[in-house]
Amino acid sequence: MDKTTFSQLRLMEPILRAVREQGYENTTPIQAQAIPHLRKGRDLLGIAQTGTGKTAAFALPILDYLAGGPEPRRPRRPSVLVLTPTRELASQIAESFRVYGRYVDVRHMVAFGGVGQAPQVRALRRGVDVLVATPGRLIDLIEQRHVDLGSIEVFVLDEADRMLDMGFIHAVRKIIAELPRDRQSVMFSATMPKDIAEFANTILYKPQRVEVAPPATTVERVDQSVLMVDKADKRALLCEVLRDSSIERALVFTRTKHGADRVVKHLRRIGEDADAIHGNKAQGARERALDGFRTGRVRVLVATDIAARGIDVRDVTHVINFDLPNVAENYVHRIGRTARAGRSGTAISFCDVSEHGYLRDIEKAVRCEVPIVENHPFRSKTQYTRMAARSPAKRKASKRPSRKRRPRLTSASSR
Ligand code: AMP
Repeated sequence: MDKTTFSQLRLMEPILRAVREQGYENTTPIQAQAIPHLRKGRDLLGIAQTGTGKTAAFALPILDYLAGGPEPRRPRRPSVLVLTPTRELASQIAESFRVYGRYVDVRHMVAFGGVGQAPQVRALRRGVDVLVATPGRLIDLIEQRHVDLGSIEVFVLDEADRMLDMGFIHAVRKIIAELPRDRQSVMFSATMPKDIAEFANTILYKPQRVEVAPPATTVERVDQSVLMVDKADKRALLCEVLRDSSIERALVFTRTKHGADRVVKHLRRIGEDADAIHGNKAQGARERALDGFRTGRVRVLVATDIAARGIDVRDVTHVINFDLPNVAENYVHRIGRTARAGRSGTAISFCDVSEHGYLRDIEKAVRCEVPIVENHPFRSKTQYTRMAARSPAKRKASKRPSRKRRPRLTSASSR
């Protein structure tokens, strides 16, 4: 596709300025495709992973809409709700609104659990335009009548697949029931299995569907390999692998939270700067771990799948799968952490005999054989056998009952 510049999308100058200051030259494909639809007020179903620039794809037209509206927007009741599954994603989205919206008068706030509620309540009282929230805390705030969603004009459901995986479906439905029917809705999901497509049908009205970077494209840029190892040798193998000084920033994945803690403990014992990030950690500890990793103080960050979702750390040179994920798509998400914004990266996976089946599923999902490294000191004796690959399941098109509604996110000039 040809390159699209932000000015071609006719966003207002203060927003273009903020984008320029970020150093963005051209739009990413999801931005080029989604922004025009959103500005026309259409509902949107976006199939895009974190790392594709999807946050700006909705944040920019939302800021443009709010800042270009009739002034003043008072009292400031939330006009936009962005719902996202994890605190990390919520913080990152809020940060995007801050950065892209620094030259316009649009107030945003973020509400998630694990931290005190009082400052969030105070911020709501002062008035906000954009509310970024995780489902649990938002429900608390609604039930305690600290927030009323009756003024929402634009609803963004981010990472819908993860939201369902994490068991938030009822919470999300409950929140949606609080929203006016007359609204613009946007849903992003990295994957579109049947249950997500059906869910999308219940919340979107005649959505435009945009899809970018199917997993295979990300995967192509990652240098992948697998090391066959006995379970008991995995920690020793990790230490061996980490001796490579070209590993500047490694994200290590374990399947469980306890597993993550055990790996960190082991690495620290050998003098490695390592930290863990997972759901059992308090918000402060998670932020410290992420910060250390971002600034380079911590070379190795050990994470579980859910905690790692949406972590946006540039320059992750290596992803190491200490445990293989039991869901093949998570493999794609994991290794995608190291191939951000067009860069390439390395993914090294450890595979013990109990994980051979997972590896077969992964090879099917990425549609290639992951090369096996034969030459390492902890090579397991067990043989791995491949099966013939099958073609991926076909996606089903979706239908949705009609509903009349006035357009949102249309620019000031066209309103
Ligand atoms: P996201 O998919 O929204 O998590 O964005 C991934 C990363 O891409 C973030 O670090 C953004 O700052 C960056 N980004 C977003 N849009 C662009 C763009 N048009 N050009 C370059 N980088 C971008």
